[in-house]
Amino acid sequence: MDCLFCSIANGTVPSTKIYENESVYAFADIDPQAPFHCIIIPKAHIDSAAAINKENSAVIAKIFEAAAEIAREQKLENGFRIVTNCGRDGGQTVGHLHFHMLAGRLLAWPPG
Ligand code: 5GP
Ligand code: ZN
Repeated sequence: MDCLFCSIANGTVPSTKIYENESVYAFADIDPQAPFHCIIIPKAHIDSAAAINKENSAVIAKIFEAAAEIAREQKLENGFRIVTNCGRDGGQTVGHLHFHMLAGRLLAWPPG
């Protein structure tokens, strides 16, 4: 399967690594929307949040454990936002489940 984020997770496509463990990889977004903007992905392919199920959901806990660790390592003391875009109306452009982690400026709410 030809998937950009699978290729980033296995190193075929280069990226700036921010965090990695056995099941999760995090890297700098190529088009950052905040002073700190990383993408956190499961190494195993999942299409989107709509494809999470009982069999694959354990990695979601790993992703949020990784996010808290990233916040400590990157000293994001003022807070951060984690968001996943799902499907066309959600604005998803890469078909491999990923969580944006944004920090370093005051983020507007609600999003546009
Ligand atoms: P989505 O729009 O699907 O929620 O998020 C996809 C994100 O992946 C975007 O923020 C985009 O900038 C980022 N992105 C797309 N292609 C690449 C790439 O080749 N390398 C990196 N590091 N980020 C990418
Ligand atoms: Zn993939």
